[in-house]
Amino acid sequence: MAGDWVLGIESTAHTFSFGLVDASGKPRPSSSDTLRPTHGGIHPREAADHHVDYSSALLKNILEENDLQSSDIGAIAYSQGPGMGACLRTGAAAARSISTHLDIPLIGVNHCVAHIEIGREQCGCDDPVLLYVSGGNTQVIARLDGRYRVLGETLDIGIGNMLDKFARAHGIPFPGGPVIEKLALEWYSQNSEHSMEGLELPYAVRGMDLAFSGVLTAALKLVENGKPLGAVCWSLQEHVFSACVEVAERALSHTGKNELLLGGGVACNNRLRSMCQIMSNERDSQSFAPPRMYCIDNGTMIARLGWLEQGAGRNTPFAMSAIDQYLRTDQTPITWS
Ligand code: AMP
Ligand code: MG
Repeated sequence: MAGDWVLGIESTAHTFSFGLVDASGKPRPSSSDTLRPTHGGIHPREAADHHVDYSSALLKNILEENDLQSSDIGAIAYSQGPGMGACLRTGAAAARSISTHLDIPLIGVNHCVAHIEIGREQCGCDDPVLLYVSGGNTQVIARLDGRYRVLGETLDIGIGNMLDKFARAHGIPFPGGPVIEKLALEWYSQNSEHSMEGLELPYAVRGMDLAFSGVLTAALKLVENGKPLGAVCWSLQEHVFSACVEVAERALSHTGKNELLLGGGVACNNRLRSMCQIMSNERDSQSFAPPRMYCIDNGTMIARLGWLEQGAGRNTPFAMSAIDQYLRTDQTPITWS
């Protein structure tokens, strides 16, 4: 007889990851590996090959770490979308094999919704506005009438991709975000004036939406024109994070909600976390950020959402299990509290 743990597989982009929740939905840390190209961006085919290479070792590892047998697994969840097609297919294929082999239900889940649900679980918040800032996605989301609605989002590239591209142009490999954070902080601590003069960039806010490609071009030009890299990293963070926080604040105001939740890899950033704290304090709201291991892409959030879907009586027949690169946050019905 199958057990009652839910296993989750994440494979939307650079990371292949297995995660677990127990019968009561309690998360366990993931077992993951991330492709880090030495030059250029993430190539979907190369990332997919990476995922296939690592899948069995990571699966073995997570079962061993948690002292589980395959017979303890009662359902298998996977990221059905959105993401890079080739990468998503590796996770879906692994999930279908595990489902068949163990004769357990298959549950395809929405990657963006998984970021929200692991954040709610970890932070204990109830009905937040989510600022979802990752490599490929940048969205401000709130729950209304059984869906997570996208109130604002990037019109061009994700904020993380923008940071990674800026970093790559200066010889910093993927992921560039953490290095930009470090360079910005170093420059900030060494320069007591912190004047924005000469470091101004276009503003990314477009109504409730955001746009980052113009900011990227302008930041690259500043360095080309001789501004110190650290100074531009600082200015870039200040500009794009305030733009995100501004849209998030307007979302809080319009919806009347009083919790802000951060999610996605860029939510690891301390400056962004502190800007969210400041804004939330100013309007008598609370800001939450999950532990960093649950901000970056991870299998545990997929297992957690699989557990919620299973509790709501849903699973995914094989005929409906194809991946959807363009799955939207608001396509997934939310029926749990
Ligand atoms: P995700 O797509 O959610 O896995 O997140 C990956 C993205 O998060 C990449 O674009 C990284 O550069 C970015 N990232 C990770 N840590 C940080 C950080 N400390 N500051 C800014 N961006 C970060
Ligand atoms: Mg993600």
